[in-house]
Amino acid sequence: MIDHDVLIIGGGLAGTRAAVEVARTNPGLSIGLIAKTHPIRSHSVAAQGGMAATLKNADPSDSWEAHAFDTVKGGDYLADQDAVAILTQEAPDVVIDLEHMGVLFSRREDGRIAQRAFGGHSHNRTCYAADKTGHAILHELVNNLQRYNVTLYDEWYVMELIFEDNQAKGVVAYRILDGAIEVFRAKAVMFATGGYGRVYNTTSNDYASCGDGLAMTVAAGLPVEDLEFVQFHPTGLYPVGVLISEAVRGEGAYLINAVGDRFMAQYAPSRMELAPRDITSRAINYEVRAGRGIHPKDGSAGGPVAYLDLRHMGRKKIMERIPFCWEEAHVHLGIDAAVTPIPIRPTVHYSMGGIPVNVDGRVRRSATELTDGFFSAGETACVSVHGANRLGSNSLLECVVYGKRTGFAMANYVEGRSLPEVDSDRYIKAAETQLQSVLDNPGTYRVNDIRQAYQDCMTEHCGIFRTQEIMEAGLVKLKEIRAQAERVKLDDRSRTWNSELVEALELRSLMRVGEIILTSALNRRESRGSHFREDCPDRDDEKFLQHTIASYSPEAGVTIDYMPVVVNQFEPKDRKY
Ligand SMILES: Cc1cc2nc3c(=O)[nH]c(=O)nc-3n(C[C@H](O)[C@H](O)[C@H](O)COP(=O)(O)OP(=O)(O)OC[C@H]3O[C@@H](n4cnc5c(N)ncnc54)[C@H](O)[C@@H]3O)c2cc1C
Repeated sequence: MIDHDVLIIGGGLAGTRAAVEVARTNPGLSIGLIAKTHPIRSHSVAAQGGMAATLKNADPSDSWEAHAFDTVKGGDYLADQDAVAILTQEAPDVVIDLEHMGVLFSRREDGRIAQRAFGGHSHNRTCYAADKTGHAILHELVNNLQRYNVTLYDEWYVMELIFEDNQAKGVVAYRILDGAIEVFRAKAVMFATGGYGRVYNTTSNDYASCGDGLAMTVAAGLPVEDLEFVQFHPTGLYPVGVLISEAVRGEGAYLINAVGDRFMAQYAPSRMELAPRDITSRAINYEVRAGRGIHPKDGSAGGPVAYLDLRHMGRKKIMERIPFCWEEAHVHLGIDAAVTPIPIRPTVHYSMGGIPVNVDGRVRRSATELTDGFFSAGETACVSVHGANRLGSNSLLECVVYGKRTGFAMANYVEGRSLPEVDSDRYIKAAETQLQSVLDNPGTYRVNDIRQAYQDCMTEHCGIFRTQEIMEAGLVKLKEIRAQAERVKLDDRSRTWNSELVEALELRSLMRVGEIILTSALNRRESRGSHFREDCPDRDDEKFLQHTIASYSPEAGVTIDYMPVVVNQFEPKDRKY
C-alpha cells in the first residue's frame, strides 16, 4: 500500500493546479498525483483559444459582473450564481499568478497580456498564447510539480475509488507498464479526470476522455449532476472531428452555407458567428437539414457541412494569431485556409455536468449532504459554473480557479487527520479477479467493434436534436450493446503494456456514463442550453430550473433526483442574442 496525505487523480490543468496549491499551502504534506497518461498528454494540452479573465487590457469597460452575467446567460440560467461569482472575481489573479509561474501569454503592443473576442462574451476578455494556450499553461504547471516535490505516478490506470462510511480513503490502480495492482491510501482524494467526449463517435477530445472518474463515482454509490448537458462545438474539422478553435471566429472568420450566406444572421443577429456554442451548433444543423449544407468534395449544396471562411482575414493575421488551426486544416485535409474555406460540422466537445461539488471542491453525497475526504475539480466536476452550456474560454479558467481552491481546501482538510484504515488485501484481490476475468473472457466480440456500435448509438440517440422516442429507442439499443460488452474477447492476454485491456476497462466507463446521459436527458422534458428537445422546445423554469442528480445501482439502474439552482444575482430571462 502506498500512502500520501493528498492523492490527486488526473494530471490536466485542474489536477496539477490543485497539487501546486496543496504544496504552497502546506509544504510539509506528501502529495501523490496519478494519471493514466503522462500529465503533459492530458487533454488540457490541446486547449487552443484561451482563458477568460477581466484584466481590462483590451476593454477597460469590462467588469467581473459582466463576465458573470455572460456566463449565466450563456448557461441558460442553470449555473449556480455563487460559483460563477467566485469564478469571475478570482479570474484576473489566477491569470497573473500563471504568468508569474512562467506561462508565456501573447502580448499587446504595449506589453500587456492580449485579450481576444470569444463566443457569448460581451467584451474582449480571453487571454491566450496564440492558439496553443493549454500547451503553454500545462507545461508550466507540470514543471512546477517537480519544484513542489509532488510524487508522480504516470501511466497508472485508476480502477476504483475506495469509499467506505461516507469517506474517500484512497484508490485501487494498476500500472499499465506491467499490470501490477496497488492500493493508494490518503487522507484526501481528488478526482480531476477530465471529460467523456469518447462517449460519441465524433469528438474533439483525446482518447483518454472516457468519463472514468464519473463511472467510479457512481460505482461508489455517489451521484453525478447534469450529465444530459453535452456540448457540441460548432467547428469540428470534417470528417475527423478535431477542433478548429473558436478563436478563429474570435479573430474574424465567417460561417457560410451552400449559397454563400453568413447564416448566423438568422439565428443570432447581434452576435453572429460569436453566438454561444449551443445556438451556433444547432444553426449549422438546421442549415444542413434545410439543404443548405455543402458537399465538401465539390462545394455543391445538400451536403453535411458548413464552411468556416478565413479568406478575408489575410495570411499574415492567420499565421500570427491562429497558426495551429491553419496547420490542422493543412495536415488533415491539405487545405490552405488563407485561400480555401474549411469544411466543418459540430463535434462533441465538453461535459457541462459531472461530480457534484461545493465551491471548495468537496464532493456532494446528495442535494444536502457532503462526503468526507473526497474532492473534485475541472471538467469531471460540476460546481456548476457552466449551467446548461459553457462559454468558450471559461473551462481553462474553471480548472485553474477551482483547482486552486480545491488544493487549498484539501491542504486544510488533512490538517490533524490520520490515515484511514483500509483492508488493502481485499481490494487488491478483487481488482486481480476483475482484471483476470477481462483477460480470460472467452467471449466473441471485439472491444473496438462494441465501442463503435456504442458511440454510434449515443450519437444517433442523444445528439444535438433529441426526442422522447429517439432516446427511449437509444436506451433499448444500449442495453443490447451492454450485454455484448460483457462478452468481449481480448487478443492480447498479457499484462505488459496491454492497451487492449485499458480500452476494455474504459469501455465499461463509457457505457455507464452513456446510460446516465440518456436517462437524465429523457427525464428533462424541456429545452435548455445544449439540451434541445424537439418534442419540448421551450425552457420550463417552473419544473426544470433544477440540477439533475443521477445515481446508479445494479438493482435499480439509473435513478433521477433534482437539486435547486443558486439564483442570487441574475433573474432568469429570455435568452436571445
Ligand atoms: C481540442 C480542445 C480545445 C479546447 N480549448 C479550450 C480553450 O481554448 N479554452 C477553454 O477554456 N477550454 C478549452 N477546452 C476545454 C478544456 O481544455 C478542458 O475542459 C480542460 O482542459 C479539462 O482539464 P481537466 O484537468 O479537467 O482534465 P484533462 O486535461 O482532460 O485531464 C484528465 C486527466 O485525468 C487522467 N485520467 C482520466 N482517467 C483516469 C484514470 N482512470 N486513471 C488515471 N488517470 C486518469 C488523464 O490521464 C489526465 O491526466 C478545449 C478542449 C478541447 C478538447
